Amino acid sequence: MSYSNSIIFGPIPSRRFGISLGVDLSPSSKQCNFDCLYCELERAKTVDSMTTYPTVEEVINAIKESFEKHSKIDVITVTANGEPTLYPKLDELITEINKIKDNAKTLILSNGSTIYDKNIFNTLLHFDTVKLSLDCVSEKCFKKLDRIHNGIDIEKIVESMITFSNTTKNQFVLEILFVKDLNDKEEEINLLYKAVKKINPSRVDIGTIDRPPAYEVKPVSFETLENIANIFEGINVNIAYKNRPKQTNSFSEEEVISMLKRRPLTLEDIENLFDESSKKILEKLVEKKLVLTIDSSGVIFYKIF
Ligand code: SF4
Repeated sequence: MSYSNSIIFGPIPSRRFGISLGVDLSPSSKQCNFDCLYCELERAKTVDSMTTYPTVEEVINAIKESFEKHSKIDVITVTANGEPTLYPKLDELITEINKIKDNAKTLILSNGSTIYDKNIFNTLLHFDTVKLSLDCVSEKCFKKLDRIHNGIDIEKIVESMITFSNTTKNQFVLEILFVKDLNDKEEEINLLYKAVKKINPSRVDIGTIDRPPAYEVKPVSFETLENIANIFEGINVNIAYKNRPKQTNSFSEEEVISMLKRRPLTLEDIENLFDESSKKILEKLVEKKLVLTIDSSGVIFYKIF
């Protein structure tokens, strides 16, 4: 794996966000406090801080340049080859981005490990959308799958995620990546569901490996993700799966209501599960306001209240 050395990637069209401008806070090498088995970057020793990184001025100038070249940027996505919250000037950076972002939204993609650091917690409150990973709740699974830097405490992460969810006025999304024979066991799924219910994020994205991983691990099937989504009753679950199988069926009004009572379905779920007559039934339920549509950072959910 080689690194581009470029702070900016994109703008790239994103199905969820329109035009997204990516900001890489570790463009020259991987700097992460995890070394996840499924990482799409090369294996690397974990670190607890970045040693090589662009200055705030360099990042801001690069964003400004992109804004001059591309008139319509909908979202600025702050990420890294590694963990973006290890960037030592993150608070200053988001303050400066918020001064120049105009109508664009800000999004940060983090592994969630630093949420119990009070300063980072407060910094994250300044992003329009915060997306954090939570792959395991048991310590054994967390250490095995995410190969964490010494001293990172999963209990504190979950507690801080609950506080963050109760504090933020913006969008808070969780992401869980399932890996075969690791966090797809019933016991771990139940622990994750209990934690997710307490955290109560605006949305949970569940997915699996879809690029060559750093270690010899395997993805779970789409059916496994669907089963997990059904276990996560009442949660806004978005199944992120490339080339998901299309299996449309005909559902009665009662069946549509019962499915939506179990869990909200995304527009993509509807496209893949509902035949034309079922879609019409759903449309009528929306017209009657028995079903509402909500937008969670670009993902549309159909939900019964
Ligand atoms: S947190 Fe992200 S960058 Fe870090 S090892 Fe895991 S997958 Fe890779």
